[in-house]
Amino acid sequence: SVMAAAGAAKLEDADALIDSVETFIFDCDGVIWKGDKLIDGVPETLDLLRSKGKRLVFVTNNSTKSRKQYGKKFETLGLSVDEEEIFASSFAAAAYLQSIDFPKDKKVYVIGEEGILKELELAGFQYLGGPVGAVVVGFDRYFNYYKVQYGTLCIRENPGCLFIATNRDAVTHLTDAQEWAGGGSMVGAILGSTKQEPLVVGKPSTFMMDYLAKKFGITTSQICMVGDRLDTDILFGQNGGCKTLLVLSGVTSLQTLQSPDNSIQPDFYTNQISDFLTLKAA
Ligand code: PLP
Ligand code: CA
Repeated sequence: SVMAAAGAAKLEDADALIDSVETFIFDCDGVIWKGDKLIDGVPETLDLLRSKGKRLVFVTNNSTKSRKQYGKKFETLGLSVDEEEIFASSFAAAAYLQSIDFPKDKKVYVIGEEGILKELELAGFQYLGGPVGAVVVGFDRYFNYYKVQYGTLCIRENPGCLFIATNRDAVTHLTDAQEWAGGGSMVGAILGSTKQEPLVVGKPSTFMMDYLAKKFGITTSQICMVGDRLDTDILFGQNGGCKTLLVLSGVTSLQTLQSPDNSIQPDFYTNQISDFLTLKAA
């Protein structure tokens, strides 16, 4: 066809894709759920993949909950998912600090919500007060000028102070009625006042990919990354060398995917993950 010659292929043979990898990484919002609502056919799809012996991993850029809190959310939605299979950007911030042996006697200043604080506590890091060695910025509905000022002072006044962003999502979908300013807006404020680029630990950075590939001993070419957002999920998969599948059940429309303005092309696209149950080779 004339359109999207080098673009994504419509998924036609789900079994072939499933057989070609050993692991599926699922983005959460827009793939598994939308807000607090489970997307149709998800439990059956996950059951199918598990019955075929696939490893399932869940990665979310939403830093407002800890992985334990996400464990509860999965349970509430009737999905049996182990906490160890969940990689939220809140967890990634704590895991990153551990990976660089961030000293336990230095403090971390957090602009963000409960998820980040809980993960830092579990990892044994202290936050607030005293010399600050890292500023961690995530989505924060209580964001204000004084947080910007304090974060800016920490970064400016403490030599070597790290500026870590859980994610830079431009918008989120807190409600269906409209798009809401995402974690990228809080990160952008600190960037604006410090002129420092953050170190991003959520998607599309490779930090979580490297972390989970190492943890589970997976080769990334054996992973299919499934997501609804091009500039986080699909880029995350591509940066990691995974196969990529875009689902149209979240923020990206077919029109956006095929627009000449879009340069991020997944290997495949399909409407939603439950298509795995029905798409068979002709
Ligand atoms: N950040 C916030 C605050 C959100 O509410 C969401 C989605 O609900 C996201 C990020 C993106 O989450 P995910 O990576 O699961 O799509
Ligand atoms: Ca998503």
